[in-house]
Amino acid sequence: MTAAEILAAHTREVADFPQPGVMFKDLTRLFRDPDAFALVLQDIADRWSGTVDVVAGIEARGFIIGAPLAQRMSLGFVPIRKAGKLPGETHSQTYDLEYGTATIEVTADAFATESGPRVLLVDDVLATGGTAAAACRLVESAGAQVVGIEVLLELGFLAGREQLPGREVRAILVD
Ligand code: IMP
Repeated sequence: MTAAEILAAHTREVADFPQPGVMFKDLTRLFRDPDAFALVLQDIADRWSGTVDVVAGIEARGFIIGAPLAQRMSLGFVPIRKAGKLPGETHSQTYDLEYGTATIEVTADAFATESGPRVLLVDDVLATGGTAAAACRLVESAGAQVVGIEVLLELGFLAGREQLPGREVRAILVD
């Protein structure tokens, strides 16, 4: 089975979550199947191997994917967190949601160990693209370079890629 077939077989659709009218894609069945999860992680590792220096994951499901991926690639992992969770000095980026705004942060020294490290940004789902676009701005404001964005699932009908012009965006599965 390909990584896309495995992901499709482990995706559960939940209607009206977190609000009416939304068809939520739940990937927890993938995370609890060690062989399936390992195959998907290896597919991502093979794709980016040798082209990135650091993996950065977006809270919260980007952590579930990004940390084991970074270990598999023998790279470090940087958490991109929601505002107020990281201690000390941070870089931050605020972006628009359907109702209101959200802020994400990284520690000020997150990418300070190397000059301009190449970063692979990881999350579970690309929907409207607002989160990933803000994460790109955040990483670059912290002195690193986003080489690519990897998501497990892209909701193609929401056209999130349009928020990421010129970026290398890869999804295991496009819905
Ligand atoms: P965007 O900013 O609209 O692209 O939303 C992406 C963020 O929302 C990601 O961090 C996802 O984890 C989350 N998200 C949006 N839709 C879904 C979904 O159907 N399943 C799981 N996460 C989702």
